Amino acid sequence: MAIETLLADRLFDGTGAAAIDKAFVQFENGLITAVGRQSDLGSKASEALDLGNATLLPGLINMHTHLTCSAGTHVLQEALHDSFETKMMRAVENARRSVLSGVTTIRDCGTLNPIVFAIREGSKEEIITAPHVWASGEVLTSTGGHCYFFGVECDSIEDIKKAVRAQVKAGADYIKVMATGGGLTPNTNPREAQFGREEMIALVQDSQRIGKRVAAHCHGTPGIVNAIAAEVTTIEHCSFMVPDGVEYEQPLADSIAEKGIYVCPTIGVGERFRQHAEREGIELPAGMAQTRPKRIDNFRKLLDSGVKFVSGNDAGMTFTGFDDFQLDLEMLVEYVGMSNADAIMTATGQAAEAIGSDEFGTLQVGRRADILGVRGDALQDIGALRDLLLVKKSGKTMVDNLPA
Ligand SMILES: [Zn+2]
Repeated sequence: MAIETLLADRLFDGTGAAAIDKAFVQFENGLITAVGRQSDLGSKASEALDLGNATLLPGLINMHTHLTCSAGTHVLQEALHDSFETKMMRAVENARRSVLSGVTTIRDCGTLNPIVFAIREGSKEEIITAPHVWASGEVLTSTGGHCYFFGVECDSIEDIKKAVRAQVKAGADYIKVMATGGGLTPNTNPREAQFGREEMIALVQDSQRIGKRVAAHCHGTPGIVNAIAAEVTTIEHCSFMVPDGVEYEQPLADSIAEKGIYVCPTIGVGERFRQHAEREGIELPAGMAQTRPKRIDNFRKLLDSGVKFVSGNDAGMTFTGFDDFQLDLEMLVEYVGMSNADAIMTATGQAAEAIGSDEFGTLQVGRRADILGVRGDALQDIGALRDLLLVKKSGKTMVDNLPA
């Protein structure tokens, strides 16, 4: 593949450095070979493709997806009753929608092993139109526990060790554990832990021993407490649920910050329910109406406590499309008060850091040429992230909306 050069009025590299005006990015054989100011490019600039009033930035990383889920209103029934082949087709279609919306990497947080590992391979081999996939495969849960239908059921430390090792043997890039119950799965309790402290510690230690990180789904505070004690890498949702509602705990936030645990707030979930209720002219369920503002406030407090965020939208779950990841970044700006640059970081450099990879997530020399070009200035208007001009995945064109 020949060297390609893209120019734009600004470039945000996803490392946290300030945007560069009148910038360029150059890549060859799928990897970035140079980034800088157009003035340093000399005569070569004339051969480049100029996006003009646009922002170049790293392809987005959606840190929380479930590839086989439909994002409709029957997610549970489909998970229980759809055929394997139907699930596979959903996964192929969801992967396509992701990458066409500017997401060049997904961290899948729970999908049947043979499906998600096949999608990862199909993407790598360019058999399907898909983002890069970082996959846990099946989740670790308790018997009948949250998402047991794409999980390995464990009820003891021995079971947990066996499951961690089996998942890694099957091809897991990291381990996902359901530390509490969840709303989707009947007869689980989102407010209570599914595993004890010692079980969570054993799970993380055995994962770390073989070089794998752990993401823990945590709604209830008892699950958050155990996840902190075990020092997981990411806490998903971090809802601070207690028996009678939602109750933020500052000492826990301080521990999360101190241990460098990332929080993936999946902040758009409640907003999508609210938008649906508005469209249909129905009331938001009472519980959700009460806790929604509190949960948003809690994310603001977590951020103020120095907790690092990564963004994932829980794609596939009710109302949560694979092509609607940008809403989560918009909400971090509009509701939590993050700067546009910081919000973009949660889906680029900071996300790659939480995954533990220096192969993607930023526009730096040697990294994968996963590149977005969006119309306008994404550092002034977060909505610009939806206005795609160009999406490159490992240097290959996935989307080209440039005027001919
Ligand atoms: Zn999830």
